[in-house]
Amino acid sequence: MKQYNMIINGEAGAASELADVINPATGQPFAQVAVGTPEDVDRAVAAAAEAFKSWSQTSDAQRQDLIHQLAVRLEDNMPELMEIVTKESGKPMGGLNGVGSGMEVGGSIAWLHVTADLELPVDVIQDDDAARVEVHRKPLGVVGSITPWNWPLMIAIWHIAPALRAGNTVVIKPSPFTPVATLRFVELANSILPPGVLNIVSGGPKLGAAITNHPGIAKIVFTGSSVTGKDIMRSAAGNLKRLTLELSGNDAGIVLDDVDIKAVAPKLVGACFHNNGQTCAALKRLYVPESIYEELAQEMASIAGQLKVGDGLEEGTDLGPLQNKRQLKIVEELTESARREGGRFLCGGQPLDREGYFFAPTLVADLSNGSRLVDEEPFGPIVPIIKYRDIDEVISLANDSPSGLGGSVWAKDIDRALEVGKQIESGSLWINDHGAIQPNAPFGGIKESGFGVEFGSYGLEEFTHIQTVKVVK
Ligand code: NAD
Repeated sequence: MKQYNMIINGEAGAASELADVINPATGQPFAQVAVGTPEDVDRAVAAAAEAFKSWSQTSDAQRQDLIHQLAVRLEDNMPELMEIVTKESGKPMGGLNGVGSGMEVGGSIAWLHVTADLELPVDVIQDDDAARVEVHRKPLGVVGSITPWNWPLMIAIWHIAPALRAGNTVVIKPSPFTPVATLRFVELANSILPPGVLNIVSGGPKLGAAITNHPGIAKIVFTGSSVTGKDIMRSAAGNLKRLTLELSGNDAGIVLDDVDIKAVAPKLVGACFHNNGQTCAALKRLYVPESIYEELAQEMASIAGQLKVGDGLEEGTDLGPLQNKRQLKIVEELTESARREGGRFLCGGQPLDREGYFFAPTLVADLSNGSRLVDEEPFGPIVPIIKYRDIDEVISLANDSPSGLGGSVWAKDIDRALEVGKQIESGSLWINDHGAIQPNAPFGGIKESGFGVEFGSYGLEEFTHIQTVKVVK
């Protein structure tokens, strides 16, 4: 079985302990990775701190050029990385609506290019006979990045690219469920970047805590669950680390009564089920007006019931397995509680009878807020469709959640959709879409979905601090 090492200060070290990485489509290990220790974190932070001295002083043009080179290196290794992403995350190579490993690696390349080209211009506040006052954006130092298992490579790039572009150095820790693509990317990147600029340690929550506690780290960028986000916020307080927290979502979609049911149903199924619902900003609760409830729900169920679920390496697969056994168990528990609470199963409702962590795409009618399946994030292929009577009611149902990542409204009348949408408490609002992101537009959560944004110049600024410079004439 192939082994993947950590990279610290540009060097791949031999680890004293190895861990298996499981392919969720088979339940069997396919690779082994190094298990890092707190001493490895110390070494990685020391290397990153040393590299920061020169990396922070390199010109913008030089950093831009090197980040573009990282994108090209990814592109040159795209087939290998796609296969790794499929094997470790379970997502298909192609996938429902093209949401698969091709999109993950392709998106990583696009994000690197776009982020490389971002600028951090000096803002001149005053320039007169008395003084010149400028606002500069400066890098923070060593950034600690901690990533989840659902989009392992793309989220790593979302953390690494702006951190490096702004002049920081990085210590990244991927999820122990899906460390391989990130380890391989960092290995490739270290043939381009100076030693110590990008370091990787692999391991679980304990190693994550060694990063969030570390006094040599200036900022944590974290994507994962709200529960872990709260732990991180507590442990980062030691040296007042800056934080970007991209956390759990339980996004609501609201359908208005003027939609074309046949046209909207496949789009809604895509928004709910792509990557098996294991996307932070997937549509996780769908609110449909009484007048079209049954017709839309049945139309969606007939589409979802025909999705091809299987090993992501097989061509034509729409949805792969859940990424891990723990997540499959959460989905099974929420299925059982929905049954007990009187949910009507329109399709799916059970795991597939085969090896691996497969669960049939599932739509559940006749539940409302207060049911666990509506109130909690399943992070899997099960979505409740909830009936509503009027707009005021549905807005309060949509906002009745501690999460506030994304939200959507689906309608022909765009003005009416915007009027409703603006009342949704969320960091992103989509009209006739859900979960669509792009590298030049900010994305982030409110409430317990976190704070700070990623992407574009707004996201880049999060990896800097302001220095105000006043020159008295
Ligand atoms: P998780 O919080 O369990 O783990 C995420 C990472 O944190 C892993 O690398 C893990 O090892 C590490 N970790 C765990 N405990 C830690 C601790 N105490 N200190 C430091 N590090 C620790 O999340 P997950 O199960 O990997 O991912 C699923 C969750 O992530 C879902 O809730 C999903 O909504 C969320 N998510 C959010 C976004 C977003 O952009 N908002 C994107 C993807 C996933």
